[in-house]
Amino acid sequence: MVRYQVESRGLKDERLLQALLAVPRHLFVPEQYRREAYEDYPLPIGEGQTISQPYIVALMTAVAEVKPGDKVLEIGTGSGYQAAVLNQLTDRVFSIEIRETLAGRAASVLQSLNYTGVRVRWADGYFGWPEEAPFDAILVTCAANHIPPPLFQQLAEGGRLVIPVGSTVFFQTLTLVRKSGGKPVVKQLLDVRFVPMVGEIEKEKR
Ligand code: SAH
Repeated sequence: MVRYQVESRGLKDERLLQALLAVPRHLFVPEQYRREAYEDYPLPIGEGQTISQPYIVALMTAVAEVKPGDKVLEIGTGSGYQAAVLNQLTDRVFSIEIRETLAGRAASVLQSLNYTGVRVRWADGYFGWPEEAPFDAILVTCAANHIPPPLFQQLAEGGRLVIPVGSTVFFQTLTLVRKSGGKPVVKQLLDVRFVPMVGEIEKEKR
């Protein structure tokens, strides 16, 4: 089911497909949604938040070009599902969640499934994870009205930042930012709808 959703939309990298197929997505969604876990849409995970549709998880992972050994930062742990997919590809995954309950729940699911390459931190992801920088890839899974400067700063040279940028109440444009010679090279990918980033970003008007 997930293989078809992803392959039919043009993502054919076998390592990526294997990573997706290896993660038991039903264990990352609330009990009442388990039957729907592999359907082609997002699902609620509590606290008004959602787990992205499998294709979007695949797309973000693909455009971030996550390779074995890469150091990856995710902003918006949510259920922990995207972090688990990343951990299938590299053993250095750092994920930040601003809602304490979700951070705790994701950390325990990841631990119970033996995703030992993921570290979850309860904090505002706007500021990134400076002690672990630089990152080869940064995936932001909540909508931002601008690119948080600390995240671009914490990107390694040649690193990829994938982030939904735009109005946080309507839709956003999934955006790929590559650091090249210290400067951002920006590519707009497609329109998406994510839950809004909260915290510091709401104070910073840019
Ligand atoms: N990647 C997740 C889905 C995330 S939904 C998964 O695979 O399930 C977006 C998440 O971003 C929500 O859990 C929300 O609480 C979180 N979030 C919102 N603002 C944030 C911020 N400033 N820092 C970190 N996480 C944030």
